[in-house]
Amino acid sequence: MTDALTIEPAHRARPGSESDSGSGEVDRAVRAADLAFRTSVRSPATDRTRWLRTVADRLDDAADELIAIATAETGLATPRLVGEVARTTGQLRMFAAVIEEGSYVEAIIDHAATSATPPRPDLRRTLRPIGPVAVFAASNFPFAFSVAGGDTASALAIGAPVIVKAHSGHPLLSLRTAEIVSAALAEAGAPDGLFGLVGAAADGSSRAIGIELVEHPLVAAASFTGSVAGGRALADRAAARPEPIPFFGELGSLNPVVVTAEADAARGEALAAGLAGSFQGSAGQLCTKPGIVFVPRGSVLEAALPPHVGAAPHRLLTEAIDGGFRNGVEHLAAVPGVELVAGGIGSENGPAPVVYAVGLDAFADDRHRDVLTREVFGPTTLLVRYDAQDALLPVLTELEGSLTATIHAAPEGELVLDGLVEVLAARAGRLLFDGWPTGVAVTWSQHHGGPWPATTSQHTSVGGTAVRRFQRPIVYQDAPAAVLPPELQEDNPLRIPRRVDGALRLPSRP
Ligand code: NAP
Repeated sequence: MTDALTIEPAHRARPGSESDSGSGEVDRAVRAADLAFRTSVRSPATDRTRWLRTVADRLDDAADELIAIATAETGLATPRLVGEVARTTGQLRMFAAVIEEGSYVEAIIDHAATSATPPRPDLRRTLRPIGPVAVFAASNFPFAFSVAGGDTASALAIGAPVIVKAHSGHPLLSLRTAEIVSAALAEAGAPDGLFGLVGAAADGSSRAIGIELVEHPLVAAASFTGSVAGGRALADRAAARPEPIPFFGELGSLNPVVVTAEADAARGEALAAGLAGSFQGSAGQLCTKPGIVFVPRGSVLEAALPPHVGAAPHRLLTEAIDGGFRNGVEHLAAVPGVELVAGGIGSENGPAPVVYAVGLDAFADDRHRDVLTREVFGPTTLLVRYDAQDALLPVLTELEGSLTATIHAAPEGELVLDGLVEVLAARAGRLLFDGWPTGVAVTWSQHHGGPWPATTSQHTSVGGTAVRRFQRPIVYQDAPAAVLPPELQEDNPLRIPRRVDGALRLPSRP
């Protein structure tokens, strides 16, 4: 077995350069992935779980080295990166468990009914891998949403090859992680070309490489975590191909929080500390950062917040994110009625955390809606002061989709929750009660998505169902037993949960 990784390090691409027309780097990696797919498409679950677990083990072995590179390239704090490596390898192992359990293929068998009117054929449905997947690594999670992150893990889990487009914010980490993943896959006997990396050696932005990847005819799907502008540009490219492909983008999210008057009175000071921790963690560079917080006018929370807002400037992940933060905050501060609550925009050493507040009427004014509801990626949040909770509902209804929405209420205030729950459930993919949205637990039930622009589809990149993005259904009609995949064979040799003639059948344990 030779190296399972395809890295093309010599390329130097910038948007608009001659390499826009195709460098060969992308083509070589995608063709290798396509060849690998001929083997991986029917690879047994036992092979795939071994690939995933070996990658997880080797990343754990190399954690110290990888964290040192990540610290230098991203400026993220070491404890945060230590936790992120554990999350990443835990995620790889979780997907191995998902594959072993078996329900991810959603096997359904309807036996033939020749005496029915009209007669029915034998129908057997399963999910199969879609083909090579383009994965766009995120800037803000250099492990968990990058080269060996959830997109890569969920694609490899079901036998779909992966070509990662490295993020320009951490190229050396991308290269080193890819080398380790590659060696681990080779060690575990994975087919050559199953995993490839492109764009890591570009001098600066490698957007042309990403566009080339999405447009390559042998790429079957793409997943992306990043900005609304970037995600939209690539989603449009995916849709405009001669053969359009699914594009699973996670873009921008405001993550609204509503604090009821009862909750504020009961524990406003604790809420201030909790909000401060949540919006400043990782310098606010989290897609689930609470970006907008509805508080009663004159709240305990607002009065208690300033001492919790740090004064030290932060180094943000990239120059573009730094510029976007300063620009977003300046626009916010310029809106009539917006007041500074705490902090300041910062210096040449980096932006500092800052909190603003505005009244609900000014917030609801159409003239400033775009600025006030635009995600500002970095350590800032906006308090929106309301007088009556009823007045919130029409404003919340108008919010764009988010990954999360949060309600802080006192137990005795439950009667007022009904309307809030419905309105927020319509605007977000995860609804939290009395918590903070940052910190996404990686579990079977997790959903990390939401209505546009939070995501471009209903499916999630976190949680057991993430594999669905890279599978497509196929039904076998009156197929001879010999051609059926094992999950559809009559005697259930994989011993997986299946639906047979309408009834859920769980395998008997040996
Ligand atoms: P970004 O600028 O969109 O970059 C993400 C990736 O897309 C990079 O590989 C980038 O290439 C590429 N790209 C961007 N624009 C492109 C275009 N027009 N054509 C082709 N490729 C393009 O995002 P970022 O700077 O990494 O992250 C910051 C933003 O991402 C924040 O605004 C935040 O809201 C969002 N974000 C969202 C989530 C989520 O889960 N919803 C998570 C993290 C971040 P280069 O690297 O070569 O420039």
